[in-house]
Amino acid sequence: MSKGYTYVTKHTSPNKNKGRIGGKPTGITVHHWGGQGQKHANVVSWLTDKRAGTSAHYVASSGLVTCIVDPDDTAWHAGNRNANRRTIGIECRPEMSSGDFETVAQLIANLWKVYGKLPLYPHSRWTSTACPGKWGSELSRLRKRAEELLGGKASKPSAPAKPKPKPKPSSKLDEDGKLGEKTAKAYQKHFGSTQDGKLGHNSWKAGQRKLGTPADGKISKQSRTASSVGYAITQGWEYTGPNSSGSTFVRALQRLIGAKADGVWGPATTKALQVFLNKG
Ligand SMILES: [Zn+2]
Repeated sequence: MSKGYTYVTKHTSPNKNKGRIGGKPTGITVHHWGGQGQKHANVVSWLTDKRAGTSAHYVASSGLVTCIVDPDDTAWHAGNRNANRRTIGIECRPEMSSGDFETVAQLIANLWKVYGKLPLYPHSRWTSTACPGKWGSELSRLRKRAEELLGGKASKPSAPAKPKPKPKPSSKLDEDGKLGEKTAKAYQKHFGSTQDGKLGHNSWKAGQRKLGTPADGKISKQSRTASSVGYAITQGWEYTGPNSSGSTFVRALQRLIGAKADGVWGPATTKALQVFLNKG
């Protein structure tokens, strides 16, 4: 959780309760630290001092976020017990420079990745206070910027939207049980033979070697003709009439792809092969 800013966790505030009553946080309370000109480090130093009796989860300014209370613990930041229990508190630099704004938006986007899209509240929502100053009227812009960052739509503020790339044509095979060129090429790719879309001796041998059956480059004892199984079969197919006993290699292939292992290649075997190859 550190993209875009330096994330510091070495300062821990004692001004908290361990854990949260009521479970995960349901919102984010935005604060400012009041006096302009105060340094980030001094704010951290004060909020981690027991005498302050107050804290936040984060102190944030341009390029720097200091986590002083774990967001799963209850920090004392809202002046309202319920809001302390239910929200994550961020102390923001009151000057609200564009850099401060961007860092807080990045922090919010990162919190959303963990906790879901929590709503943003001004501190003044919970108690009578001038906090969060300038930030109070900018919360919807802050939310929009965090949404952009979360969606990865823009890496910089006001970057023009890029046209969406055209979807690539699907590389998936039709699971139609027909052994055509595309399925043949996917078979060849899987077993590591030349991807020419023609299933001959070399393609069968490549499969046989991979599956550990005799590498004779043939599909023997088949009940269907090569052309009825698919036009991609060009060599090494042995048709021996209906009810043939099948091939050892086809049986091994059928076991691999989850088809009925009868050694006889038909549309069901091709379909199972397509499903298998589509899984990559
Ligand atoms: Zn506040």
